[in-house]
Amino acid sequence: MSEMTPKKCGQRRCLGCLVSDDKGKLLRVVVENGTLRLDNKQSFQGRGAYLHRSAECYERCQSAKRWEKALCLPAGSLKLRDLQRVLGGVFAAPATQKKIRL
Ligand SMILES: [Zn+2]
Repeated sequence: MSEMTPKKCGQRRCLGCLVSDDKGKLLRVVVENGTLRLDNKQSFQGRGAYLHRSAECYERCQSAKRWEKALCLPAGSLKLRDLQRVLGGVFAAPATQKKIRL
């Protein structure tokens, strides 16, 4: 697999829609000591996978295989429910319904 287009600096590919975007617009998920975690400050070392803050992209990445590949994990080591636990809070409410109640 080779890509013809050069990689743009600071751009990462969303695992949901597979579109490259500015990494500031993407959530970063890393594996640290075998644990999946959300890297809010994008400061963790190691290999990360990226995802738009979009429920649509989240729906599209419900494949453990895709995450394993992105994070260089052995096949079968990632559980989809772990992913859902890590990302569930972020995507619990659809953005269109997000309202602040006082
Ligand atoms: Zn996306």
